Amino acid sequence: MDDNDTTRGADGLLLPQSDEDGAPFWTYTARGELRVQCCASCRVPRFPPRPCCPHCQSFDTEWRRVTGRGRIWSYVRPHPPLLPGYAALAPYTVVLVELADAPGIRLVGNLVAAADAPLDSLDPERVRIGAPVRVAFHTMAPGVVVPRWLLERP
Ligand SMILES: [Zn+2]
Repeated sequence: MDDNDTTRGADGLLLPQSDEDGAPFWTYTARGELRVQCCASCRVPRFPPRPCCPHCQSFDTEWRRVTGRGRIWSYVRPHPPLLPGYAALAPYTVVLVELADAPGIRLVGNLVAAADAPLDSLDPERVRIGAPVRVAFHTMAPGVVVPRWLLERP
């Protein structure tokens, strides 16, 4: 692995790549906060982040802190062929989480046994659509923190 590669963490997994609209999301996760972009005019949350509200066309935005609780809306168990760092851990569980306090907003992440546990750390028999989950924060590289998901009932 190239030591100057800013696209991968020490474990070889891809680091999030942000744009101007999404940068605040990652600034907040680095502080251990989960926030979603909301319209500052009509207050409707939106994801992924973008400059204009699709409901009222306002360009005024704010980042609302959410509890980090939600439910599994869907999930997948990726199998190879995958990028090498991922293939070594497959199959693992990728969930789509609908946030409890921002219904309609669904975030993609890994469902794991603990914040810093390997991607394949959770028994797939325990994954169910609708299961309550809560966010946990995993540091992939200095200043790069990703939200992951834990089952509310371990
Ligand atoms: Zn709006």
